Amino acid sequence: MKHFLLVSLVAGAAFSLQAEDVKSLSDFQAAAEKANEILVIPEWPKTPVEVQGNVDTAIANANRALDTIGKQDLAKVTFKSTVGALDDIQNDAQIAASKTIVIQQTNQDAAMRDAAEKAIKVFQDWAVGVDYREDVYKAVKAFADTKPKLEGEDALLLEHTLRDYRRAGLTLEPDKRAQVEKLRKELAKLETDFEANIVAVKAPVVFTKAELEGVPNTILESPGVKTGDDSYTILANVTFHYNTVEETAKKEETRKHLYHVRFNLAREKNVPVLNDMLTHRNQIALKLGYKSWDDFQTEIKMAKSGAAAKTFINDLVAGIQPKFDAEVAELRKLKVAESSDPNAQINKWDWRYFQNQLKKEKYTVDTEALRVYFPFQKTLEGMFNIYQSIFGLKFTKILAPEKWIDDLQLYMVTDSGSGQPLGMFYLDMFPREGKFNHFAQFPIIPGKLLPDGKYQRPTVALLCNFPPPQKDKPSLLSHQDVETLFHEFGHALHTIVTSARYVRFSGTSVPADFVEAPSQMLQNWVWNKKVLDTFAADYRDPSKKIPAELIAKMKEAKLATVGVYYRRQFTFADIDLTLHDVHPEGQPYDCVAMSNPIFVKDFLPIDPDTAFVAFFGHLAGYDAGYYGYAWADAIAADMATVFEKAPDGFLDKTVGMKLRKEIYAPGGSRDIDVSIHNFLGRDRSIQPYLKTLGIDTPAKAGGGPSNESNPAAAKPPTKP
Ligand SMILES: [Zn+2]
Repeated sequence: MKHFLLVSLVAGAAFSLQAEDVKSLSDFQAAAEKANEILVIPEWPKTPVEVQGNVDTAIANANRALDTIGKQDLAKVTFKSTVGALDDIQNDAQIAASKTIVIQQTNQDAAMRDAAEKAIKVFQDWAVGVDYREDVYKAVKAFADTKPKLEGEDALLLEHTLRDYRRAGLTLEPDKRAQVEKLRKELAKLETDFEANIVAVKAPVVFTKAELEGVPNTILESPGVKTGDDSYTILANVTFHYNTVEETAKKEETRKHLYHVRFNLAREKNVPVLNDMLTHRNQIALKLGYKSWDDFQTEIKMAKSGAAAKTFINDLVAGIQPKFDAEVAELRKLKVAESSDPNAQINKWDWRYFQNQLKKEKYTVDTEALRVYFPFQKTLEGMFNIYQSIFGLKFTKILAPEKWIDDLQLYMVTDSGSGQPLGMFYLDMFPREGKFNHFAQFPIIPGKLLPDGKYQRPTVALLCNFPPPQKDKPSLLSHQDVETLFHEFGHALHTIVTSARYVRFSGTSVPADFVEAPSQMLQNWVWNKKVLDTFAADYRDPSKKIPAELIAKMKEAKLATVGVYYRRQFTFADIDLTLHDVHPEGQPYDCVAMSNPIFVKDFLPIDPDTAFVAFFGHLAGYDAGYYGYAWADAIAADMATVFEKAPDGFLDKTVGMKLRKEIYAPGGSRDIDVSIHNFLGRDRSIQPYLKTLGIDTPAKAGGGPSNESNPAAAKPPTKP
């Protein structure tokens, strides 16, 4: 089952309360028993040997259980002895793997992290092989052949299990199946190489001070950059270096040179690898009976076909055209003025610089000054209060018997009405050496109805990297940090309040082009004055709230650049879908020739001697999936309108409870279109998304008076 490998990263946060308020797990056991549920705090391996041992044991147990499925009398197969048993196996295996991943990402001991990394590799290799257990497949097939009368989630579980086998090639003739298995293994290796080549590439570019005119001293004087009297080494492979120079270097030659190096990174190695990956994917898709790899990839998502994804992106590219044109024209004016060349054009190496100029001149917002309104603790408590209130929940700090870091926090989530315990979350909020360096939710224990009829409540960990407190001042978050906090914590709630019976559908196990939508929606909260005023206040003088003009100005600045921002996103999605579109078998791929013209068509003029796709990491793992960001964005914007129209806006409890009941609780246990429809109370619409893109009037966007004549407006994230 491919989903053995899926440990989705989605995230959240919390801490406060006095020591005497801290409860323990046992305080919740009576309520858990009453609700017929299992509530356990995970136990953690303590030595590298235990880390490996834990995974080895899980694999051995799973293999034994798989043997039992495979060995049974095919005349007596039941739901429980086949697909049900597979979900039980997945539960145990996933808990062991998830714990190992958390150790790898958090443990303070490098030897523990290394052991965890090795154990995860062992686990992944094993998990791929589970797909190809013929004996297990035969038992599942024998059960399906009885044409059982199943309903709801049971029916869906059988359907998805059979689908996995079909997608792995198990339903093909033996020789064809062997070819698919071989191609899949080779593809996995190629993808690993592609990613490794991106990680390994280093591209130092030496400039003089004069060439770097405009680039801030913070970067010029940072370690490793000043490498001689008048030589500065900029690393084209380091995104932060690249973006800073492209945003600030006054000389076009400098920007263009660095751009040229960046867009040739890993070219020699990865162009052939990518061509080979595309060939493999196309062959796998064709052998499995799909027209293309994007059809294969989107089949299990909301889009359901490559064509639907492509139409969606094409419509957005067209819909945003006027806004994009207007923004580029404004950037061009700045370039004409600066270069005194009336014919100056905005190229791929210019937009960051002139957008930065525009922001400085027209939309001066000192985002750093906002930090004083967001001390970490108060912000966290403020978000807690909002989510507890709108989702009908209560968060209680409890004692963590084992801690991988001193300031680790553990919270119990209960239903505020009934007191029913729903699950737990760990918070590990500040950076340190060797820790995971982004922001994400890591699942540990999934929600699941166990074979004994008790419900196993979930536990998750939120791993974040907020600025640590300093001697003289608390941790002060940026506005973007606050947005991230609201986003990631939404994922945690999605996992915790689940009511799905099977691991397969529990929590955030929803289509990949939907999973981000609820959290993207929650980002709106931190752009709303009413919401912010419930917690954001100057930590030095809490009577001072964020000025309304400041929020308005930030929104204005954001809107001023969305055209270029999103058009670039759509370009990536277009390139990704084009590479994975229908392609004649046997015809070689030329990934550079296929993708470069799309940049020119959808975005800005490029230097033809570049190969962006060689460094486009999403092509391994998110392949034929980049469109999903925009797809989920569109649904997020649509869902946000339900709150916006409610009496209490983003603080509305009725709508909050509806989100919990219709979106979070069912997870993947029913058709996601049904969940979204129930929450919206109507069909989906793309209009709210177009509004966030600055396309307010359909007439202007599409050239016609009604939605129907607006290419972008006519198609909501297209329903199949
Ligand atoms: Zn997310």
